[in-house]
Amino acid sequence: MKQTPDQKRIQDNLAPGAVSAEGFLGDDRRDVAAIVAADAAALERLGTTSASLAARMRRVTHRAAAGLGATVEVAPGREASVEEHRGSIPCPFRCAHRFMKRSTVLTDCATGETVRYTDLNVHLIEKHGFFEGAGSPFRVEPDALAAALEGVEA
Ligand SMILES: [Zn+2]
Repeated sequence: MKQTPDQKRIQDNLAPGAVSAEGFLGDDRRDVAAIVAADAAALERLGTTSASLAARMRRVTHRAAAGLGATVEVAPGREASVEEHRGSIPCPFRCAHRFMKRSTVLTDCATGETVRYTDLNVHLIEKHGFFEGAGSPFRVEPDALAAALEGVEA
């Protein structure tokens, strides 16, 4: 499908070296619309929404930030820690926002499974339904995220 000029600019921003050194697409050959559509279908199968996930991700980060880098219990059976880095990053979809370079690691204490996401991931999921391309270092898998957030209230 032919991209509009705006879609082209977004696709360019998602490439390595534009907004971030690694980019957002990994080795995914699909265009953004196809990635978003596939993840939207996954959310529907999981019976959740990007808004619900984002609200709970934000809650986990808020609770974990109180630990100042230490691990905090954020819900029964769930621990998280927050790591802050210098600087900020803009939304590659050309929203007029910049995001702190902060990442949250959420652990399911029973299985040891962890999910890592940044403040920008929360925004990308909430506003753009974008979990990043397959193979991107910051891709968040919808099923792993939904499982990690089980029991976390918004
Ligand atoms: Zn945005």
